[in-house]
Amino acid sequence: MPKFATAINCIDGRAQLPIIEYIKRNHAVDFVDMINAPGADGLLAANKDAARLKNIRDAVAVSVDREGSAKVVAVCGHHDCLGNPVDEAQHKTEIKRGVDQLKWWNSNLEIIGLWVNANWTVERVV
Ligand SMILES: [Zn+2]
Repeated sequence: MPKFATAINCIDGRAQLPIIEYIKRNHAVDFVDMINAPGADGLLAANKDAARLKNIRDAVAVSVDREGSAKVVAVCGHHDCLGNPVDEAQHKTEIKRGVDQLKWWNSNLEIIGLWVNANWTVERVV
């Protein structure tokens, strides 16, 4: 049976494959379900836009309830983000805040935070 993880990521096309490949390599899964919103790290950290946050929560629930889910969820941010145009330090702060939000939503998941840097490689933040 294939194994799945979950990523909450920006819509930016440059940030998809690095995240998928990192999670597959480091968490022994075959596929990564992608939940995409522009500037997703900032959206989670701000914790204000109730409608969009509900969409994300609902999508996370579907993904982690599927058969084969490893219950690993990544909160992701990336360099040169148009949806959340803040500097790297602020992105990393928001990724950490987003991870805390998700832990509050569901304490049964392993939540990690990932940063896609200017070389389009992935750094683990949390
Ligand atoms: Zn972005």
